[in-house]
Amino acid sequence: MDTPLPARPRLPIRARLATTVGGAAATVSKLAGRDGSVISGIIGLRLEPDLLSLLAAGRQVVLVTGTNGKTTTTRLITAALSATGQKVASNVYGANMEAGLTSALSKEQDALLAVLETDEKYIPSMIKATQPKVVVLLNLSRDQMDRAAEIWMLARRWREALAASDCLVVANADDPLIAWAASAGRSVSWVGAGQRWREDSWCCPECGAHLARNGDDWSCRECGNQRPAVRWQLEGDKVIDPAGRVQPLDLALPGRANASNAVVALAVAEAFGVDADAALAQMRGVTSVAGRYTQVQRHGTEIRLLLAKNPAGWLEALDVMVPAPVPVLLAVNAQVPDGRDTSWLWDVDYRRLRDRPVLVGGERRMDLAVRLEADDVPFQLADGIDQAIELARSPRLEVLANYTAFQQYRAILGRTQ
Ligand SMILES: [Zn+2]
Repeated sequence: MDTPLPARPRLPIRARLATTVGGAAATVSKLAGRDGSVISGIIGLRLEPDLLSLLAAGRQVVLVTGTNGKTTTTRLITAALSATGQKVASNVYGANMEAGLTSALSKEQDALLAVLETDEKYIPSMIKATQPKVVVLLNLSRDQMDRAAEIWMLARRWREALAASDCLVVANADDPLIAWAASAGRSVSWVGAGQRWREDSWCCPECGAHLARNGDDWSCRECGNQRPAVRWQLEGDKVIDPAGRVQPLDLALPGRANASNAVVALAVAEAFGVDADAALAQMRGVTSVAGRYTQVQRHGTEIRLLLAKNPAGWLEALDVMVPAPVPVLLAVNAQVPDGRDTSWLWDVDYRRLRDRPVLVGGERRMDLAVRLEADDVPFQLADGIDQAIELARSPRLEVLANYTAFQQYRAILGRTQ
Protein backbone atom coordinates (compact mmCIF):
# COMPACT_ATOMS: atom_id res chain seq x y z
CA MET A 1 0.00 0.00 0.00
CA ASP A 2 1.59 3.30 -1.11
CA THR A 3 -0.13 5.75 1.24
CA PRO A 4 -1.65 5.02 4.63
CA LEU A 5 -5.44 4.76 4.52
CA PRO A 6 -7.40 7.40 6.44
CA ALA A 7 -9.28 6.23 9.53
CA ARG A 8 -12.91 5.27 9.02
CA PRO A 9 -15.65 7.77 9.94
CA ARG A 10 -17.27 7.12 13.31
CA LEU A 11 -20.59 5.26 13.08
CA PRO A 12 -23.75 7.23 13.91
CA ILE A 13 -25.26 6.31 17.28
CA ARG A 14 -28.11 4.11 15.97
CA ALA A 15 -25.68 2.14 13.81
CA ARG A 16 -23.38 1.69 16.83
CA LEU A 17 -26.31 0.39 18.84
CA ALA A 18 -27.27 -1.93 15.97
CA THR A 19 -23.77 -3.47 15.80
CA THR A 20 -23.62 -3.86 19.60
CA VAL A 21 -26.99 -5.61 19.86
CA GLY A 22 -26.26 -7.71 16.76
CA GLY A 23 -22.85 -8.71 18.14
CA ALA A 24 -24.42 -9.75 21.43
CA ALA A 25 -26.96 -11.90 19.57
CA ALA A 26 -24.12 -13.60 17.66
CA THR A 27 -22.35 -14.38 20.93
CA VAL A 28 -25.52 -15.92 22.39
CA SER A 29 -26.06 -17.89 19.19
CA LYS A 30 -22.49 -19.26 19.30
CA LEU A 31 -22.89 -20.21 22.96
CA ALA A 32 -25.96 -22.17 21.89
CA GLY A 33 -23.73 -24.07 19.46
CA ARG A 34 -25.00 -22.39 16.29
CA ASP A 35 -22.98 -20.81 13.53
CA GLY A 36 -23.75 -17.16 14.41
CA SER A 37 -22.20 -15.76 11.22
CA VAL A 38 -25.41 -14.13 9.97
CA ILE A 39 -27.45 -13.36 13.07
CA SER A 40 -25.63 -10.15 14.00
CA GLY A 41 -26.28 -8.81 10.49
CA ILE A 42 -29.95 -9.78 10.52
CA ILE A 43 -30.58 -8.06 13.86
CA GLY A 44 -28.35 -5.08 13.07
CA LEU A 45 -30.15 -4.42 9.78
CA ARG A 46 -33.50 -4.58 11.53
CA LEU A 47 -32.39 -1.77 13.87
CA GLU A 48 -30.59 0.23 11.18
CA PRO A 49 -31.58 -0.57 7.58
CA ASP A 50 -28.57 1.38 6.23
CA LEU A 51 -26.12 -0.50 8.43
CA LEU A 52 -24.20 -2.13 5.58
CA SER A 53 -23.56 1.22 3.81
CA LEU A 54 -22.52 2.80 7.10
CA LEU A 55 -20.15 -0.05 7.91
CA ALA A 56 -18.66 -0.04 4.40
CA ALA A 57 -18.03 3.73 4.39
CA GLY A 58 -14.35 4.64 4.45
CA ARG A 59 -13.18 1.14 3.54
CA GLN A 60 -11.76 -0.22 0.32
CA VAL A 61 -14.14 -3.03 -0.55
CA VAL A 62 -13.76 -5.93 -2.99
CA LEU A 63 -16.93 -7.83 -3.97
CA VAL A 64 -16.43 -11.33 -5.40
CA THR A 65 -19.14 -13.13 -7.35
CA GLY A 66 -19.72 -15.93 -9.86
CA THR A 67 -21.39 -19.34 -9.91
CA ASN A 68 -18.29 -21.28 -8.84
CA GLY A 69 -15.16 -20.48 -6.84
CA LYS A 70 -16.46 -17.46 -4.88
CA THR A 71 -15.45 -18.70 -1.44
CA THR A 72 -11.98 -19.85 -2.49
CA THR A 73 -11.24 -16.71 -4.51
CA THR A 74 -12.40 -14.54 -1.59
CA ARG A 75 -10.02 -16.44 0.68
CA LEU A 76 -7.11 -16.10 -1.77
CA ILE A 77 -7.68 -12.35 -2.26
CA THR A 78 -7.89 -11.88 1.52
CA ALA A 79 -4.54 -13.66 1.86
CA ALA A 80 -2.98 -11.61 -0.96
CA LEU A 81 -4.14 -8.30 0.54
CA SER A 82 -2.71 -9.21 3.92
CA ALA A 83 0.64 -8.41 2.25
CA THR A 84 -0.35 -4.72 2.58
CA GLY A 85 0.01 -5.06 6.35
CA GLN A 86 -3.60 -3.89 6.70
CA LYS A 87 -6.31 -5.79 8.50
CA VAL A 88 -8.79 -7.34 6.05
CA ALA A 89 -12.45 -8.04 6.91
CA SER A 90 -14.06 -10.97 5.09
CA ASN A 91 -17.12 -13.24 5.23
CA VAL A 92 -14.91 -16.30 5.53
CA TYR A 93 -17.72 -18.82 5.91
CA GLY A 94 -19.49 -17.78 2.77
CA ALA A 95 -22.59 -16.05 4.24
CA ASN A 96 -22.91 -14.01 1.07
CA MET A 97 -26.16 -12.04 1.21
CA GLU A 98 -26.78 -8.67 2.85
CA ALA A 99 -26.83 -9.96 6.44
CA GLY A 100 -23.64 -12.00 5.94
CA LEU A 101 -21.76 -9.02 4.53
CA THR A 102 -23.05 -6.80 7.33
CA SER A 103 -21.96 -9.32 9.98
CA ALA A 104 -18.46 -9.56 8.49
CA LEU A 105 -17.95 -5.77 8.49
CA SER A 106 -19.52 -5.38 11.91
CA LYS A 107 -17.11 -7.90 13.38
CA GLU A 108 -14.01 -6.15 12.01
CA GLN A 109 -14.85 -2.49 12.42
CA ASP A 110 -11.25 -1.28 12.33
CA ALA A 111 -10.32 -3.18 9.15
CA LEU A 112 -9.83 -0.69 6.33
CA LEU A 113 -9.91 -3.36 3.64
CA ALA A 114 -12.78 -5.81 3.05
CA VAL A 115 -13.09 -8.76 0.69
CA LEU A 116 -16.68 -9.92 0.49
CA GLU A 117 -18.07 -12.96 -1.29
CA THR A 118 -21.41 -11.89 -2.73
CA ASP A 119 -24.33 -13.94 -4.05
CA GLU A 120 -24.79 -13.42 -7.80
CA LYS A 121 -28.29 -12.06 -7.44
CA TYR A 122 -27.26 -9.47 -4.85
CA ILE A 123 -24.42 -7.86 -6.79
CA PRO A 124 -26.42 -4.79 -7.98
CA SER A 125 -27.72 -3.92 -4.49
CA MET A 126 -24.37 -4.68 -2.81
CA ILE A 127 -22.52 -2.43 -5.29
CA LYS A 128 -24.91 0.33 -4.31
CA ALA A 129 -24.50 -0.30 -0.58
CA THR A 130 -20.74 -0.79 -0.36
CA GLN A 131 -19.38 1.42 -3.21
CA PRO A 132 -16.65 -1.13 -3.92
CA LYS A 133 -13.17 -0.33 -5.22
CA VAL A 134 -13.10 -3.65 -7.11
CA VAL A 135 -15.81 -6.04 -8.32
CA VAL A 136 -14.63 -9.54 -9.31
CA LEU A 137 -16.69 -11.54 -11.84
CA LEU A 138 -15.56 -15.18 -12.06
CA ASN A 139 -18.00 -17.17 -14.19
CA LEU A 140 -21.68 -17.61 -14.78
CA SER A 141 -23.41 -20.92 -15.42
CA ARG A 142 -26.61 -22.68 -14.51
CA ASP A 143 -27.03 -23.40 -10.84
CA GLN A 144 -29.75 -25.78 -9.67
CA MET A 145 -32.88 -24.96 -11.68
CA ASP A 146 -31.71 -21.68 -13.19
CA ARG A 147 -32.18 -21.47 -16.92
CA ALA A 148 -29.96 -19.92 -19.57
CA ALA A 149 -32.37 -16.99 -20.01
CA GLU A 150 -32.23 -16.34 -16.27
CA ILE A 151 -28.45 -16.12 -16.16
CA TRP A 152 -28.52 -13.80 -19.18
CA MET A 153 -30.98 -11.55 -17.29
CA LEU A 154 -28.64 -11.64 -14.32
CA ALA A 155 -25.69 -10.61 -16.49
CA ARG A 156 -27.78 -7.75 -17.84
CA ARG A 157 -28.52 -6.52 -14.32
CA TRP A 158 -24.79 -6.67 -13.55
CA ARG A 159 -24.14 -4.53 -16.65
CA GLU A 160 -26.53 -1.87 -15.43
CA ALA A 161 -25.02 -1.85 -11.94
CA LEU A 162 -21.42 -1.72 -13.22
CA ALA A 163 -22.20 1.07 -15.68
CA ALA A 164 -23.42 3.17 -12.76
CA SER A 165 -20.34 2.46 -10.59
CA ASP A 166 -16.77 3.75 -10.85
CA CYS A 167 -15.24 0.51 -9.53
CA LEU A 168 -12.53 -1.48 -11.27
CA VAL A 169 -13.93 -4.74 -12.65
CA VAL A 170 -11.65 -7.80 -12.57
CA ALA A 171 -13.21 -10.32 -14.93
CA ASN A 172 -12.59 -13.63 -16.65
CA ALA A 173 -12.28 -12.92 -20.38
CA ASP A 174 -12.72 -16.61 -21.21
CA ASP A 175 -16.38 -16.66 -20.15
CA PRO A 176 -18.35 -14.82 -22.86
CA LEU A 177 -21.25 -13.99 -20.56
CA ILE A 178 -18.88 -12.59 -17.91
CA ALA A 179 -17.00 -10.61 -20.56
CA TRP A 180 -20.27 -9.12 -21.78
CA ALA A 181 -21.32 -8.15 -18.25
CA ALA A 182 -17.90 -6.73 -17.32
CA SER A 183 -17.53 -4.70 -20.50
CA ALA A 184 -20.14 -2.29 -19.14
CA GLY A 185 -17.69 -1.28 -16.39
CA ARG A 186 -15.66 1.92 -16.66
CA SER A 187 -12.35 0.12 -16.26
CA VAL A 188 -11.72 -3.59 -16.53
CA SER A 189 -8.68 -5.72 -15.73
CA TRP A 190 -9.13 -8.81 -17.94
CA VAL A 191 -7.90 -12.19 -16.81
CA GLY A 192 -7.46 -15.26 -19.00
CA ALA A 193 -8.64 -17.67 -16.32
CA GLY A 194 -9.97 -20.42 -18.60
CA GLN A 195 -13.44 -21.90 -18.86
CA ARG A 196 -13.92 -25.60 -18.28
CA TRP A 197 -17.72 -25.57 -18.47
CA ARG A 198 -19.00 -24.26 -21.79
CA GLU A 199 -22.49 -25.66 -22.07
CA ASP A 200 -24.04 -22.32 -21.14
CA SER A 201 -22.07 -20.13 -23.48
CA TRP A 202 -22.50 -21.17 -27.09
CA CYS A 203 -24.47 -18.04 -27.94
CA CYS A 204 -23.31 -14.45 -28.17
CA PRO A 205 -24.76 -12.60 -25.17
CA GLU A 206 -24.96 -9.41 -27.24
CA CYS A 207 -26.87 -10.63 -30.30
CA GLY A 208 -27.73 -14.32 -29.76
CA ALA A 209 -25.72 -15.61 -32.74
CA HIS A 210 -23.61 -18.78 -32.46
CA LEU A 211 -20.13 -18.06 -31.03
CA ALA A 212 -17.05 -19.21 -32.92
CA ARG A 213 -14.55 -20.95 -30.63
CA ASN A 214 -10.86 -21.64 -31.04
CA GLY A 215 -9.23 -22.90 -27.85
CA ASP A 216 -9.99 -20.29 -25.21
CA ASP A 217 -10.61 -17.68 -27.87
CA TRP A 218 -14.17 -16.84 -28.85
CA SER A 219 -15.82 -14.35 -31.15
CA CYS A 220 -19.14 -13.52 -32.75
CA ARG A 221 -19.18 -13.15 -36.52
CA GLU A 222 -22.49 -11.33 -36.43
CA CYS A 223 -21.81 -8.40 -34.10
CA GLY A 224 -18.02 -8.42 -33.68
CA ASN A 225 -18.21 -9.20 -29.95
CA GLN A 226 -14.96 -11.01 -29.04
CA ARG A 227 -12.70 -12.14 -26.23
CA PRO A 228 -10.92 -9.06 -24.89
CA ALA A 229 -7.11 -8.95 -24.69
CA VAL A 230 -6.05 -10.09 -21.23
CA ARG A 231 -3.70 -8.51 -18.71
CA TRP A 232 -3.16 -11.69 -16.66
CA GLN A 233 -3.11 -15.17 -18.12
CA LEU A 234 -3.27 -18.64 -16.59
CA GLU A 235 -1.03 -21.01 -18.54
CA GLY A 236 -1.13 -24.57 -17.20
CA ASP A 237 -0.04 -24.18 -13.57
CA LYS A 238 1.81 -20.93 -14.24
CA VAL A 239 0.78 -17.31 -14.50
CA ILE A 240 1.85 -14.78 -17.10
CA ASP A 241 1.84 -11.32 -15.51
CA PRO A 242 1.20 -7.99 -17.30
CA ALA A 243 4.96 -7.61 -17.95
CA GLY A 244 5.02 -11.02 -19.66
CA ARG A 245 6.92 -12.75 -16.85
CA VAL A 246 6.01 -16.40 -16.38
CA GLN A 247 6.05 -17.88 -12.89
CA PRO A 248 4.74 -21.01 -11.22
CA LEU A 249 1.74 -20.59 -8.92
CA ASP A 250 2.81 -23.41 -6.57
CA LEU A 251 -0.44 -23.32 -4.61
CA ALA A 252 -1.25 -25.67 -1.77
CA LEU A 253 -4.86 -25.80 -3.03
CA PRO A 254 -5.34 -28.45 -5.73
CA GLY A 255 -6.65 -28.27 -9.26
CA ARG A 256 -7.08 -26.07 -12.26
CA ALA A 257 -10.11 -24.24 -10.86
CA ASN A 258 -8.05 -22.97 -7.94
CA ALA A 259 -5.16 -21.99 -10.20
CA SER A 260 -7.70 -19.95 -12.12
CA ASN A 261 -9.01 -18.36 -8.90
CA ALA A 262 -5.46 -17.48 -7.90
CA VAL A 263 -4.73 -15.62 -11.14
CA VAL A 264 -7.89 -13.58 -10.57
CA ALA A 265 -6.67 -12.83 -7.04
CA LEU A 266 -3.34 -11.59 -8.46
CA ALA A 267 -5.19 -9.11 -10.67
CA VAL A 268 -7.07 -7.82 -7.61
CA ALA A 269 -3.85 -7.58 -5.57
CA GLU A 270 -2.34 -5.47 -8.34
CA ALA A 271 -5.15 -2.92 -7.90
CA PHE A 272 -4.03 -2.56 -4.26
CA GLY A 273 -0.36 -2.12 -5.14
CA VAL A 274 0.60 -5.66 -4.07
CA ASP A 275 2.97 -7.27 -6.55
CA ALA A 276 2.61 -10.87 -7.71
CA ASP A 277 5.54 -12.20 -5.66
CA ALA A 278 4.21 -10.80 -2.40
CA ALA A 279 0.64 -11.90 -3.19
CA LEU A 280 1.71 -15.44 -4.16
CA ALA A 281 3.79 -15.82 -1.02
CA GLN A 282 0.61 -15.26 1.02
CA MET A 283 -1.72 -17.32 -1.20
CA ARG A 284 0.57 -20.36 -1.04
CA GLY A 285 -0.16 -20.51 2.69
CA VAL A 286 -3.88 -21.17 2.08
CA THR A 287 -4.42 -24.92 2.49
CA SER A 288 -8.17 -25.27 2.97
CA VAL A 289 -11.18 -23.02 2.57
CA ALA A 290 -14.15 -23.23 4.97
CA GLY A 291 -13.56 -26.96 5.41
CA ARG A 292 -13.07 -27.68 1.69
CA TYR A 293 -10.03 -29.73 0.72
CA THR A 294 -9.65 -30.53 4.40
CA GLN A 295 -7.99 -33.84 5.15
CA VAL A 296 -9.31 -35.66 8.20
CA GLN A 297 -8.54 -39.04 9.72
CA ARG A 298 -11.40 -41.37 10.61
CA HIS A 299 -11.02 -45.02 11.57
CA GLY A 300 -7.53 -45.01 10.05
CA THR A 301 -8.68 -43.64 6.69
CA GLU A 302 -7.41 -40.35 5.34
CA ILE A 303 -10.48 -38.52 4.02
CA ARG A 304 -10.51 -35.46 1.80
CA LEU A 305 -13.70 -33.43 1.46
CA LEU A 306 -14.62 -31.71 -1.79
CA LEU A 307 -17.72 -29.58 -2.25
CA ALA A 308 -19.45 -29.07 -5.60
CA LYS A 309 -22.89 -27.53 -6.01
CA ASN A 310 -23.69 -27.69 -9.71
CA PRO A 311 -22.56 -29.41 -12.95
CA ALA A 312 -19.68 -26.98 -13.52
CA GLY A 313 -18.53 -27.50 -9.92
CA TRP A 314 -18.71 -31.31 -10.21
CA LEU A 315 -16.65 -31.22 -13.36
CA GLU A 316 -13.97 -29.14 -11.60
CA ALA A 317 -14.04 -31.39 -8.53
CA LEU A 318 -13.67 -34.58 -10.60
CA ASP A 319 -10.57 -32.90 -12.07
CA VAL A 320 -8.87 -32.36 -8.71
CA MET A 321 -9.51 -35.81 -7.27
CA VAL A 322 -6.45 -37.94 -6.60
CA PRO A 323 -6.18 -40.56 -9.36
CA ALA A 324 -7.50 -44.14 -9.28
CA PRO A 325 -7.41 -46.54 -7.56
CA VAL A 326 -8.25 -44.29 -4.57
CA PRO A 327 -11.97 -44.83 -3.93
CA VAL A 328 -14.45 -42.01 -4.09
CA LEU A 329 -17.68 -41.38 -2.20
CA LEU A 330 -20.21 -39.28 -4.10
CA ALA A 331 -23.05 -37.84 -2.04
CA VAL A 332 -26.10 -35.91 -3.18
CA ASN A 333 -28.93 -34.31 -1.24
CA ALA A 334 -31.84 -32.29 -2.61
CA GLN A 335 -32.77 -30.01 0.26
CA VAL A 336 -33.72 -26.37 -0.41
CA PRO A 337 -30.12 -25.02 -0.45
CA ASP A 338 -29.14 -27.77 -2.92
CA GLY A 339 -32.13 -27.30 -5.19
CA ARG A 340 -34.98 -29.81 -5.05
CA ASP A 341 -34.44 -31.07 -8.55
CA THR A 342 -31.59 -33.54 -9.19
CA SER A 343 -31.83 -33.55 -12.99
CA TRP A 344 -28.52 -31.64 -13.10
CA LEU A 345 -26.84 -34.97 -12.31
CA TRP A 346 -27.40 -35.83 -15.98
CA ASP A 347 -25.23 -32.89 -17.08
CA VAL A 348 -22.09 -34.44 -15.57
CA ASP A 349 -20.00 -37.12 -17.31
CA TYR A 350 -19.06 -39.82 -14.77
CA ARG A 351 -17.37 -42.27 -17.14
CA ARG A 352 -13.90 -41.36 -15.88
CA LEU A 353 -14.86 -42.99 -12.55
CA ARG A 354 -15.04 -46.46 -14.14
CA ASP A 355 -11.48 -47.32 -13.07
CA ARG A 356 -11.92 -46.90 -9.30
CA PRO A 357 -14.25 -48.03 -6.50
CA VAL A 358 -17.24 -45.71 -6.30
CA LEU A 359 -19.52 -45.36 -3.27
CA VAL A 360 -22.80 -43.53 -3.46
CA GLY A 361 -24.36 -41.75 -0.49
CA GLY A 362 -26.56 -38.85 0.49
CA GLU A 363 -30.33 -38.57 0.75
CA ARG A 364 -30.76 -38.80 -3.04
CA ARG A 365 -28.33 -41.65 -3.58
CA MET A 366 -30.85 -43.53 -5.71
CA ASP A 367 -30.99 -40.66 -8.23
CA LEU A 368 -27.22 -40.74 -8.44
CA ALA A 369 -27.24 -44.54 -8.69
CA VAL A 370 -29.53 -44.41 -11.73
CA ARG A 371 -27.27 -41.83 -13.32
CA LEU A 372 -24.14 -43.95 -12.75
CA GLU A 373 -25.92 -47.03 -14.17
CA ALA A 374 -26.50 -45.06 -17.35
CA ASP A 375 -22.77 -44.25 -17.58
CA ASP A 376 -21.78 -47.88 -16.84
CA VAL A 377 -19.94 -46.93 -13.66
CA PRO A 378 -19.93 -49.75 -11.06
CA PHE A 379 -20.79 -48.55 -7.55
CA GLN A 380 -21.91 -49.59 -4.07
CA LEU A 381 -24.52 -47.79 -1.98
CA ALA A 382 -23.24 -46.46 1.35
CA ASP A 383 -25.40 -45.54 4.28
CA GLY A 384 -23.40 -42.75 5.86
CA ILE A 385 -19.71 -41.94 5.97
CA ASP A 386 -18.75 -44.78 8.32
CA GLN A 387 -20.23 -47.44 6.10
CA ALA A 388 -18.47 -45.82 3.15
CA ILE A 389 -15.14 -46.10 4.99
CA GLU A 390 -15.89 -49.73 5.79
CA LEU A 391 -16.79 -50.58 2.19
CA ALA A 392 -13.86 -48.65 0.72
CA ARG A 393 -11.24 -50.51 2.80
CA SER A 394 -8.57 -48.09 1.69
CA PRO A 395 -6.06 -45.84 3.45
CA ARG A 396 -7.53 -42.92 1.47
CA LEU A 397 -11.00 -41.84 0.48
CA GLU A 398 -12.04 -38.88 -1.66
CA VAL A 399 -15.46 -37.45 -0.79
CA LEU A 400 -17.35 -35.29 -3.26
CA ALA A 401 -20.65 -33.93 -2.00
CA ASN A 402 -23.15 -31.23 -2.82
CA TYR A 403 -24.01 -28.52 -0.32
CA THR A 404 -26.08 -30.02 2.50
CA ALA A 405 -24.51 -33.47 2.05
CA PHE A 406 -21.11 -31.80 2.50
CA GLN A 407 -22.33 -30.00 5.64
CA GLN A 408 -23.67 -33.26 7.10
CA TYR A 409 -20.37 -35.08 6.57
CA ARG A 410 -18.45 -32.11 7.89
CA ALA A 411 -20.51 -32.12 11.07
CA ILE A 412 -19.76 -35.83 11.57
CA LEU A 413 -16.07 -35.47 10.84
CA GLY A 414 -15.70 -32.50 13.17
CA ARG A 415 -15.73 -28.84 12.28
CA THR A 416 -12.32 -28.10 10.86
CA GLN A 417 -10.78 -25.08 9.20
ZN1 LIG B 1 -22.93 -11.23 -31.36
